[in-house]
Amino acid sequence: MTVRAGEQVKPIDLARAREETPGCANVIHFNNAGASLMPRPVLEAVLDHLRLEASIGGYEAAERALPSLERVYDSLATLLGAHRDEIAVVESSTRAWDMAFSSLRLGRGDRILTSAAEYASNYIPFLQVARRTGAIVDVVPSDPAGQVSVEALQGMIDDRVKLISLTYIPTNGGLVNPARAVGAVARRAGVPFILDACQAVGQMPVDVREIGCDVLSATGRKFLRGPRAVGFLYVRREFLHQLEPSLVDMHGATWVSRDTYALRPDARRFENFESNAATKLGLGVAVDYAMAWGLEAIRDRAWGLAATLRTKLPNVPGVTVRDIGAEKCAIVTFTMEDKKPEEIKSALARERINVTVTDATATRLDMEARGLLSMVRASVHYYNTEEEIDRFCAALDGFTL
Ligand SMILES: *Cc1c(COP(=O)(O)O)cnc(C)c1O
Repeated sequence: MTVRAGEQVKPIDLARAREETPGCANVIHFNNAGASLMPRPVLEAVLDHLRLEASIGGYEAAERALPSLERVYDSLATLLGAHRDEIAVVESSTRAWDMAFSSLRLGRGDRILTSAAEYASNYIPFLQVARRTGAIVDVVPSDPAGQVSVEALQGMIDDRVKLISLTYIPTNGGLVNPARAVGAVARRAGVPFILDACQAVGQMPVDVREIGCDVLSATGRKFLRGPRAVGFLYVRREFLHQLEPSLVDMHGATWVSRDTYALRPDARRFENFESNAATKLGLGVAVDYAMAWGLEAIRDRAWGLAATLRTKLPNVPGVTVRDIGAEKCAIVTFTMEDKKPEEIKSALARERINVTVTDATATRLDMEARGLLSMVRASVHYYNTEEEIDRFCAALDGFTL
């Protein structure tokens, strides 16, 4: 995925990107960290398969689509720099993460190292496991820029550390954690490393071998621009064989004799028998679509737009941009004096501008440390425009009057 010296990144053809995104005609969509607008090829793949199910039957449609369904694994493997047998497709990013995390056998005194950006749906299972088993959750301090301190992490490693967990890009802002440096610490220490890349995949190149993670989870609907309710899991081959899923059905395993079962050898041991073929196909198309633009080109444009937004927002009276981190991504968060984030969201919605509100309960460690209860989250993508940013700022400015 890395661009070699001298190799040119092909810039995004904005007119085509917008023409292929029906929603661009209706809304200014700055909620790509929630769910991006689907491009037409994704929409068509999903609808075509639903139509096929209605016309010939669900199982029969899946059989006919089998080669395409299998290609989804190849697409995801290519996107992440993985092997196809290391990929599982499930219903959400959280479920993907849970399937791996709940397979780990943690006991009293075992330490889980995590960081300030950790997502609530990861931290709650940590608390649950801590309560059940006596495992300990330790939070690695952040460095002055706000990202996880790799030095502090290195200093916290001991024999009792059984897991390093990192949220690559948090749900609540522009921060990009140094996943690769964390991976290097994890590999040196021989400790499993689970990476929540839900906000990273689709807005930047993400390569599991370069990062050195054992597990990665992500979703279709966010920056990948896929449909809702489909997520995926990567588990490194050698690590996979050590993991017995905490939940397993007749797809993840085979009932081979009355008293025995055999787990699938690949990562699909973490999947369910039942899945939505239409959304899975849509995910595959979304991955191919992103790769056709190029993840470097996507990152350059989306991050550039976000930087522009961060530069212009402070011109609006009362606005404070809240993003932290040495390197900042396509997610922009801010607050406004005397205005509740929910009010701002509603006011913008009246102008057909989509943002969302990020609340302390989603990223409590970070929000508490910064004394924040909630923020407005404006997350841009490569198909957004400089003109939309100006209209966004003007709408906010109008709201201050
Ligand atoms: C959205 C998000 C998730 C959860 O993804 P789902 O598909 O809703 O399960 C996990 N981690 C982070 C950082 C997220 O932003």
